[in-house]
Amino acid sequence: MRYLSNRRALQVLEPLRTSRTLFVFDFDGTLAPIVARRANAVMPGTTRALFMRLASLATTAVISGRSVLDLHERLKVQPDYLIGNHGLEGLPGNAALLRRAQTLCATWRQQLEYAWCEMPHEGIEVEDKQYTLAVHYRLAPDARRARRTVVCALTQLRPVPLFVPGKKVINVLPPGAPSKGDALLHLLQRTRARQALFIGDDDTDEAVFELDDPRVITVRVGRKRTSCAQYYLRHQAEIDKVLRYLTQRSGTSTPI
Ligand SMILES: [Mg+2]
Repeated sequence: MRYLSNRRALQVLEPLRTSRTLFVFDFDGTLAPIVARRANAVMPGTTRALFMRLASLATTAVISGRSVLDLHERLKVQPDYLIGNHGLEGLPGNAALLRRAQTLCATWRQQLEYAWCEMPHEGIEVEDKQYTLAVHYRLAPDARRARRTVVCALTQLRPVPLFVPGKKVINVLPPGAPSKGDALLHLLQRTRARQALFIGDDDTDEAVFELDDPRVITVRVGRKRTSCAQYYLRHQAEIDKVLRYLTQRSGTSTPI
């Protein structure tokens, strides 16, 4: 991983500064700082202004674990594509998949309510996002113990879900659900973009970082040795630096 430290380092993104690039971002921890209560997550004003500028110049998308409705209300800017539930929601042609996901989530949620009757679960919260569940333990007094409790309850779920761990959260997805990587490849095909830039920070974003596709440039917010991302930023606030670079006037023949 190489650090996009300054303007010189950012020049690796120069070939992306064309209207034929698809710009894709995760939300929490990428466009918005991580906060203790996820309901309070907002995109800072400067980031929003830069994002709006980019959205006026090129094709943009946000792919997040949040639901599409939640993203829509929270972003206050409209990218070309909003993909929610880790890649499952917002792409055309997967209505049957969504119906099945909704039924599975209702079943799992009921099973978890029974499971909580038999185990202490202070600070553990199940977020029902209609097509996936997220079991959060960020507010638990003892995170390690809470995680053990969550894992114990989740491994009892039937039918067996797909689990994707995140930051103080375990995501519960229908088996076979499309990943963020699948969603990004779908968007590349749909928009006929020549290339894509993806910036994310979470374990679910590894599905994009792992894509072995020369058209996709990947940036992780936060360095992680085991990540497959090509570049990294140290802090979430550095996203502004990248957005600013991308939206500046370019000397290329097809500038954005
Ligand atoms: Mg994130």
